[in-house]
Amino acid sequence: MPANLQAHVTIMERHGIDPAQLFSLEPTPPGERLLRSYAAPLMGRMPAPVKTALTDFMKSVRNPGGGLNLRYPSDFSENQAIVDEIAALEARPWRGKRAAVCLCHDVDNQFGYESLRAMLELDIAFKIPATFFFLTHDAYQWQPQVLRGIRNSGSEVALHGDTHDQGLAFRPTAALEERLAKAMEALKDFQVRGFRSPALSVSPALFAGLKKAGLRYDSSLQIASPFYNSVRLPYPVYLKEHDLWEIPLMIQDDNYFRDTRTPDVLALESMGRLLQEVIRLNGVFVLNCHPHLMACRWDFYGKLLALLRSSKEVLFTTMSDIVDIVSERPA
Ligand SMILES: [Zn+2]
Repeated sequence: MPANLQAHVTIMERHGIDPAQLFSLEPTPPGERLLRSYAAPLMGRMPAPVKTALTDFMKSVRNPGGGLNLRYPSDFSENQAIVDEIAALEARPWRGKRAAVCLCHDVDNQFGYESLRAMLELDIAFKIPATFFFLTHDAYQWQPQVLRGIRNSGSEVALHGDTHDQGLAFRPTAALEERLAKAMEALKDFQVRGFRSPALSVSPALFAGLKKAGLRYDSSLQIASPFYNSVRLPYPVYLKEHDLWEIPLMIQDDNYFRDTRTPDVLALESMGRLLQEVIRLNGVFVLNCHPHLMACRWDFYGKLLALLRSSKEVLFTTMSDIVDIVSERPA
């Protein structure tokens, strides 16, 4: 567990909460593995309108009501058990702040890539560093100077895979390792330390591959979406078995704007609630906003950044910096 959260770890131990167990990889059901491995690559070759229609259909099957359906940290018994004791610590474990915010941007497609400059400019205007997760060999041709611009502004370049392969985690080990190595080689000038798996597919073989490829952290496990396993705790956890840090993803914009049609005001209210709950727990709030989704909603995105910025209790930093903080020895 993180060096800066020793008191928090003690509280969790007293309540019998085992982060290692909550963060262990759930086996993916065979049907989903099959779908991710075969159906997704086929879909990749379809024309965009067909792809959108199919994706919408699959969402409607998963979430028939279409309403916003999220789990907040306070919905989980683990957080309910510890939150009052943690708040009573009045701790400021994140460089003197009560919590940390890691804004990130998965760059999934050409439109996302074209929109990232505008996004970076907004992030800079609000003085919020971000972590950009790139695909190295997918449908957009990235330019080194764009990635250099991200780093020079104090933001981070990280890896989202060679392609947006939803079945990446389930490919044969040799192929998986070769693809990760190729992607890391392409980004070798950008000190990449972090990874988020396409469509959050994970497996022990993937995590072993990340370690082998020289990555230090993963951010593919998540908390608030009911569509995936939830690790429940908003803390970075060191995965001993894989020698990697996991910095869990709290929420993504697609929960509000792709899987559901949530009005802006409700989306902001929900994100504000997630942030406040993470502050009370002294955790890390990892929020993924895709440039291709925000590009149609700059007004909303500006309001979101203003909302995040309105809290004086949080450290705004990159996930790579989080790894440095949690790895520091306790004073
Ligand atoms: Zn993605």
